[in-house]
Amino acid sequence: MASLPKGQPPNLQRPAVFLDRDGVLNEDSGYTFEVAKLRLISGAAWALKLLKQRGFLLIVVSNQSGVARGLFSTQQVDDFNHALDQRLREEHGTGIDAFYYCPYHPEGTVASFTKVSSWRKPEPGMVLQAQFDYGIQLEGSYLVGDRYDDIECAVRAGVKGIQVLAPGLVKHPLALSWVSSLAEVPALIPAP
Ligand SMILES: [Mg+2]
Repeated sequence: MASLPKGQPPNLQRPAVFLDRDGVLNEDSGYTFEVAKLRLISGAAWALKLLKQRGFLLIVVSNQSGVARGLFSTQQVDDFNHALDQRLREEHGTGIDAFYYCPYHPEGTVASFTKVSSWRKPEPGMVLQAQFDYGIQLEGSYLVGDRYDDIECAVRAGVKGIQVLAPGLVKHPLALSWVSSLAEVPALIPAP
């Protein structure tokens, strides 16, 4: 899914907006994986387009423990991500630059995906891998997510966290801001 050349030299480093997927880009129906149920959240595509125009790489970092729990396959995660990207490109003229997801969980039911992983948020592994792959400048980068663990991941990775707070979610006190949707984020993020 990654569409960019890897290994950018330091003088070409760019900041990124890291994005949690479910509940930020698409509606979260709980272990979301069916392409037929893909619903973009209102205003999300518009916000992504603006952020991309300002020079930010757009990188999805998503926990997908449903793989470890035997609810769906990595192929189904890839298919959903591809459909999300296509929807953004075809209908809104924007798109995601790279997708990272963590299929592992320490209490899974599928042996090959049952383990502790530094990629699982709140650990910062996915952000740090993307930084390595694309030469991302973490200073001036952001992570937008709806869960406490998304913002904890931002803190551990050294990027600013913006929390999309829905009813029932636990507020992280170290977020830069708390918003009701991704559509509010461009107003908070100056051009790099
Ligand atoms: Mg989420």
